[in-house]
Amino acid sequence: VKNDTRGGYSFYTPKMETKFSQHLDLEMGLRRALTNHEFVIHYQPQFDTDGHAICGIEALLRWQHPERGLLYPGDFIHLAEEVGLIGYMTEWVIDTSIRQMKTWVDAGIAPARMAINLSALDLKRSNLVEEITQALDRHQLAGQYIELEITENLIVQDINIATQRLTALARHGISIAIDDFGTGYSSLSYLHQLPIHTLKIDRSFVQDIVPERSGRSVIDAIIAMGHSLELTIVAEGVETEAQRHWLAQRRCHGMQGYLFSRPLPTEDVARLLEATATR
Ligand code: C2E
Ligand code: CA
Ligand code: CA
Ligand code: CA
Repeated sequence: VKNDTRGGYSFYTPKMETKFSQHLDLEMGLRRALTNHEFVIHYQPQFDTDGHAICGIEALLRWQHPERGLLYPGDFIHLAEEVGLIGYMTEWVIDTSIRQMKTWVDAGIAPARMAINLSALDLKRSNLVEEITQALDRHQLAGQYIELEITENLIVQDINIATQRLTALARHGISIAIDDFGTGYSSLSYLHQLPIHTLKIDRSFVQDIVPERSGRSVIDAIIAMGHSLELTIVAEGVETEAQRHWLAQRRCHGMQGYLFSRPLPTEDVARLLEATATR
């Protein structure tokens, strides 16, 4: 059923019908995408605060849709979770990004870490730990090269399961980053309980930076806490030089954003890695 056939249905309101068929279209499309290899990963580098060295790289999923062009996670992750396909997608992202990282390590251009996003449902899967460690074995990559990005909500939902899985992963040298930090639950007790390496400051806080103001903002508090817990602090969504400067002054460790680089296809990011490695 194509969207443009909606005029042919008269029993439903056009709006209802369109929504329903789009949903079905998308679900069938997702299944097809998995078998037809329509997913791709774009990689966004993270820079140190002076903007010269690449300290990490984040794998971001895209769907090269045959008719609709390049789709972003906002268009399909939610549905993939709803219809139970997210696990297969995560498995693919894990395998593909680990294989890619191995290539860059062998070429001598790899940054310290590759960050992979997990969905809220991934931590619930009992085979997650195995899936990741088997991919590392398969591609002969050390766990130290991998960082998993998870959100606070996900941890708080089931703290015992989260502790168990994340501790097992940490034993393999894998590090854990809290994504979108500051936007979820405010209970911070889990920070002590879990093997957390990195705090990623959400873009919304970075956007709110007022260069003239010093202290007393939420982002100041987040950075201060990150320092006192001896975590690595990465700011996301850095778009302006004023933001970069402000974050560098507060000894934020890493930055990610359009100011430095957009997420790039594999070949483009490889060129960037080569250029920074030889600089
Ligand atoms: P996120 O993990 O918070 O990723 C950061 C998002 O901000 C990315 O959007 C990135 O392209 C965008 N971004 C980076 N720098 C800037 C900037 O300077 N300005 C602005 N305005 N945006 C910037 P993207 O790629 O559309 O991903 C959206 C979300 O989808 C991600 O948010 C993440 O939660 C999720 N996601 C991405 N890849 C995966 C995946 O492989 N698995 C799962 N489960 N979720 C994923
Ligand atoms: Ca992320
Ligand atoms: Ca984020
Ligand atoms: Ca975000």
